[in-house]
Amino acid sequence: KAAIRVHGLTKCYGVGSGALVALSDIGFSVGEGEFTVFVGPSGCGKSTLLKILVGLDRATAGTAEIQGEAITGPRRDTGVVFQSPVLFPWRTVLDNVLLPIDVLRLDRKQHLATARELLSMAGLSSFERHYPWQLSGGMQQRVGIVRALVHDPKLLLMDEPFGALDALTRENMNMELQRIWMERRKTVIFITHSITEAVLLADRVLVMTPRPGRIVRDIRIDIPRPRD
Ligand code: ADP
Ligand code: ADP
Repeated sequence: KAAIRVHGLTKCYGVGSGALVALSDIGFSVGEGEFTVFVGPSGCGKSTLLKILVGLDRATAGTAEIQGEAITGPRRDTGVVFQSPVLFPWRTVLDNVLLPIDVLRLDRKQHLATARELLSMAGLSSFERHYPWQLSGGMQQRVGIVRALVHDPKLLLMDEPFGALDALTRENMNMELQRIWMERRKTVIFITHSITEAVLLADRVLVMTPRPGRIVRDIRIDIPRPRD
């Protein structure tokens, strides 16, 4: 069953002769539980594609569906992680993590245990009462990832989530992400410009090129993984 289905997706910025075709007739579908990495150089339309999947931008033409439904805005079955975590400075780590619960008007009490469990998995248990400025960049990014998972979304959409981190932290985060994916069986879309990261993480790599943004390769990585 397809978790994501995209067909004939085109996105232009501007109109007429000055228009820039950021995505040109993109099509793909992603199965439930699949870990798909989009890789390609700067300007190939990766972020544009993700913004459309997240519901923050609209396509010029074509269709994009999640679980068989057209994407009309942010969805509660989707968690999103961007390059920098955008934590709220006046909220503690725990309150930042619980933000989706507040926004979705869910019951805080019911989700507190999950929040704490995820914070513990991310090595942040003793920091739940800290404020973002008291944490290192890597720790802040981990808070962002925990926040994206707190409402147990089926889909995790990530745009260069570890791009700002040093190489070692990045490697650790990649391993943590793989563990989360295996344990919780998410469908993951992960965007990067690093081929190494793509091959390390993916079930499947979709390679994009710019001017206009297109998918030029669809590669399945056949390394058996421990999934149970
Ligand atoms: P990537 O994430 O692969 O670097 P983007 O999706 O950010 O690519 O950009 C694709 C193309 O669309 C680039 O040429 C970029 O300059 C252009 N673009 C992105 N966002 C906008 C915007 N809001 N207005 C105009 N052009 C944009
Ligand atoms: P990372 O960004 O991966 O956390 P750092 O080199 O920034 O790596 O920090 C290394 C470790 O030091 C952290 O994982 C954390 O355990 C500890 N640490 C960092 N910042 C703080 C802080 N403000 N208070 C307490 N411990 C910290």
